[in-house]
Amino acid sequence: MARCAICGTRSTQGIKTSMFPKDDRRTQWIAAVRALDKPNWNPTKNSVLCEVCFIVFINWLFTMSMKLVFQQAKMVS
Ligand SMILES: [Zn+2]
Repeated sequence: MARCAICGTRSTQGIKTSMFPKDDRRTQWIAAVRALDKPNWNPTKNSVLCEVCFIVFINWLFTMSMKLVFQQAKMVS
């Protein structure tokens, strides 16, 4: 049974879930789960993100890319 990697919600509880991608984005998803919740986490074949955690993940991605933009612009104090 699929469970959300971050909050542990099961996919059977009427909540939409998304499988971990198998392409380049996979590393990003794993990095997000580690940064947000579980530092030593590794995905299993049943790992998914629920729709709530997916939004948290998108926010994290956005924050990270903003940081990168600022760093590249050397605007970090
Ligand atoms: Zn979740």
